[in-house]
Amino acid sequence: MEEFDYQADNSELADSMGQINHRQSTYDVLQAVRSRIVFPKNRNVAISYVRPLLNDTTLREHQYRMCLADTRLCENEDGIEDTYHFFFQCARYSDIRDKLKQEIQSIWTDSGKNGSPQWSVDLLLAPSTVTNFTKVQSRAILAATFEFIQHSGRQL
Ligand SMILES: [Zn+2]
Repeated sequence: MEEFDYQADNSELADSMGQINHRQSTYDVLQAVRSRIVFPKNRNVAISYVRPLLNDTTLREHQYRMCLADTRLCENEDGIEDTYHFFFQCARYSDIRDKLKQEIQSIWTDSGKNGSPQWSVDLLLAPSTVTNFTKVQSRAILAATFEFIQHSGRQL
């Protein structure tokens, strides 16, 4: 994973970040993301990381709300296709999800925490808002998230 200079290289992503900057969002995740941006070098993954933070993705739940899809139901017909469904439920991604959860569980355990984390979209996209991870741990979780997005083959 490399740091990603979106301002210099990526106008579309810069637009997305501009939306973050201008929106008076109650979503405190955005605050954390803004203060500690680590983007994947893969452009599609970078965009697919930002869009769920804005609740504006190509997932059916968001498309349906914009009247761009006829249904909120996942193409795989196993639930409403929202961000949580994509990361944690959709049967299409169960293999790569196992790997994602194993990696995060290892980070969790290595950091001296008991049991398992509460699985949430915030944990994947902005881990430092969920609990007191170190910078290294947060980055490792984000790296696992980016890998999941990339291997899903989806552009959110
Ligand atoms: Zn599904």
